[in-house]
Amino acid sequence: MKFGKERIYTIPHPAINTIGTLADRLQTEAQASGKILAPKVRMHVGEPDFSTPAHIRQAAIESLSNERQTYGPAAGQPWLRELLAAKVQRVDGYTVAPENISIATGGTSAILASILATVNPGEEILYPDPGWPYYAIQLKISGATGVPYPLDPKNDWLPDLEQLEKLVTPQTRMLIINSPANPTGAVFPRQLVADLLDFARRHDLYLLSDECYDQILFEGEHVSPATMISREELESGRFIGIYTFSKTYSMTGWRIGYVVTGKSLLKTIIHVLNMSFTNLNNAVQRAAATALTGPQDCVQEMNEAYRRRRDLVVNLLKDAGRYLYMPHGAFYALIDIRDKEGHDRDVQQFALDLVSEYNTTVTPGTDFGSVAKNFVRISLATADDQLALGVRAICDFADQYKY
Ligand code: PLP
Repeated sequence: MKFGKERIYTIPHPAINTIGTLADRLQTEAQASGKILAPKVRMHVGEPDFSTPAHIRQAAIESLSNERQTYGPAAGQPWLRELLAAKVQRVDGYTVAPENISIATGGTSAILASILATVNPGEEILYPDPGWPYYAIQLKISGATGVPYPLDPKNDWLPDLEQLEKLVTPQTRMLIINSPANPTGAVFPRQLVADLLDFARRHDLYLLSDECYDQILFEGEHVSPATMISREELESGRFIGIYTFSKTYSMTGWRIGYVVTGKSLLKTIIHVLNMSFTNLNNAVQRAAATALTGPQDCVQEMNEAYRRRRDLVVNLLKDAGRYLYMPHGAFYALIDIRDKEGHDRDVQQFALDLVSEYNTTVTPGTDFGSVAKNFVRISLATADDQLALGVRAICDFADQYKY
């Protein structure tokens, strides 16, 4: 039987999917057989546990009732692009025109379209390890060669310029950076952002800055590299900014994100979007517009909950002797599960066994590359009581685990 392109067929599926399916199956079987399981704790998925705020949902309902849901422009409705330019100014601190922005089906398709529009098969892209798993997979799909750059918890999981210099080659076309970061929670200091931008300039690279968590910050500031470039450089396409409504407004399933770059490069990206992830319905665009123009307390409230949970997790890890670093943004923490002697562990098996033994789900660090192979990721977008139970379960299990 034919299976399509080998390089795509052979990409391993992230273990996160297997973990969720296993947990659901065990829960259903236990319910059917009357078996008592440990309390259910689900910390593997990176999505807010809040409902999309009511005023945002209401805007979509009104659109569905009152206006036609037509194709519309591929880059998004002009009234939404205006509001996005204002948001970029207000939150990310730089000035762009609506014509520098296109909406996309979430940050996911904005990133894939940007890669497809810029990097040729065989050319190289530097991306973070540990990093959002989709970078590596999207690169493979595009035919580009991914070159992971390692991050180190001893350096607060921040990129190291010396490492990057060693990895860059004449074939490198793009550097992907992500702050606030998934899965580490790192937030890049201003000087580091400036150095990364300089690096991209020196090697003439596209700088794809994934800022999907720009509004989820516990302390410090979010610094976009775009705040450090001239209008002319922005128009040169050096910077590609990626944003989403998924995290800030708890709108993961609504599938709306956007990309910001120079107008000429944006034209190429819009071609890709127009041929694939295009024409988001008006209801979703109205909801996004309402998210931007409506009250912003919901953003603050969610941030406060994530900060409180971050503190809770950090304190539990300190009590258990497993504290390593402080996440400053996004809503994740990586936990080292090695034994006291520091031996390597089979983290995928650990995650599966944690489901069977404690009814608790985490994402194995191997989903994020090779550096976090002894870590599990938990999502702070989980209720406080579940997090407390879950973190204790991870630490207890890691202390007794044999593999
Ligand atoms: N970038 C990062 C770092 C993410 O963690 C995610 C989602 O988890 C995305 C981009 C894409 O999110 P979405 O497609 O929901 O906008």
